[in-house]
Amino acid sequence: GTKESTNLNKLVKEFTQLAYSSQQAKNKDFKVDLTFILDPNIPSLEVIPSDIGKVMLNLVNNAFYACAERSRSAVNEKSKQEGEEYKPEVFISSKKSENGIEISVQDNGSGIPDSIKDKIFQPFFTTKPTGSGTGLGLSLSYDIVKAHGGKFRVESIAGEGSTFFMQLPLQ
Ligand code: ADP
Ligand code: MG
Repeated sequence: GTKESTNLNKLVKEFTQLAYSSQQAKNKDFKVDLTFILDPNIPSLEVIPSDIGKVMLNLVNNAFYACAERSRSAVNEKSKQEGEEYKPEVFISSKKSENGIEISVQDNGSGIPDSIKDKIFQPFFTTKPTGSGTGLGLSLSYDIVKAHGGKFRVESIAGEGSTFFMQLPLQ
């Protein structure tokens, strides 16, 4: 792909909805609440749209998987018995940051244990069963964000959820 002036809100929305509808088609009885918090005033950026789209697909698919995993977990079985039901939620946001635009994907899924936080960006690292994950999504996403001169980071609490941040520079 080549760089072109891109409306990131539009791109983020399109690819998130693509991931969402394919997830919903696969898991008909598992619903994730999806919310967009997009700043309408962010400027267009020169990016490779298909590559940033791939990052969004990876992040959103991971977020949905993490929600499904938390939903299946024993902890959740316990809270169901105690009467608090787990509501899977994903928030997609865009905003201006110090030197550019920050896109974030937040989930209230399984979260990432501290013991593996430094491994998740490595190629082929996965905690998913064979056939469910290649372990390439985040390493590819990292490379794409770096190639755009951007920054990629995660904040996560095991058992509570994760937020992935992609920062893309202006200019
Ligand atoms: P894959 O999805 O094929 O496993 P990724 O590179 O996308 O590969 O992710 C690597 C690993 O990082 C996952 O297997 C999972 O352990 C962890 N991970 C990624 N995103 C999330 C998330 N939103 N919540 C919890 N864990 C995550
Ligand atoms: Mg993945």
